[in-house]
Amino acid sequence: TDFTSLGLPQLLTESLAAGGFTEPTRIQSQAIPKLLERRDVMGIAQTGSGKTAAFGLPILAGILELTGRPRPLTTRALILAPTRELAVQIEENLKKFAGGRMKLDTALILGGMSRTQQVKALARGVDVVIATPGRLMDLVNDGKLRLNETRWLVLDEADRMLDMGFIAPVKAIAKLVGPRRQTMLFSATMASEVEELAQTLLKDPVRVEA
Ligand code: AMP
Repeated sequence: TDFTSLGLPQLLTESLAAGGFTEPTRIQSQAIPKLLERRDVMGIAQTGSGKTAAFGLPILAGILELTGRPRPLTTRALILAPTRELAVQIEENLKKFAGGRMKLDTALILGGMSRTQQVKALARGVDVVIATPGRLMDLVNDGKLRLNETRWLVLDEADRMLDMGFIAPVKAIAKLVGPRRQTMLFSATMASEVEELAQTLLKDPVRVEA
């Protein structure tokens, strides 16, 4: 199989090929077609499995479909990650997948960095926000970020977010995004707390495993 047969648009498959990505990984071939059908997905996958592309490419495809439509003054997609390092990696990967051919505005919302700059980026509106839950919740509480027009919500490394005590902000943020969202949850392990979170936040999810 290749990325085209998974249903991704040509612009993306060309950009992937230019970046040396030709064959989808296992998690990618399972998750991408389901996500393109707008199903919720729950994935058991570790770093190195290609999980970032598994959730990232369908989001980029969806953003491409919205080309020309006015962007909400917030973000179209929200990706939550447990740590700054992971958030930075996710942003770099998404930019790599989009390549030079797709215009993609992203913003990082991370603790321990200037709030002012982050707030400015949000005020312009972006395609994708990648955030750690604590700082994002601070900005939401201050009224700096409305999420009601956000279509895609990703919880990456959900088990680590739970271990770090982020369960309350994660649930609160999901509630703000609202029920019309498409939700993706990825976790290295399927502990009972992760199962419970998935049951609360995902609608009839497809389960995939790396
Ligand atoms: P991840 O598991 O998302 O952290 O990805 C691990 C690494 O594999 C990243 O550097 C990706 O750029 C790379 N990668 C993801 N998917 C593919 C693929 N289909 N072919 C080759 N490399 C990939």
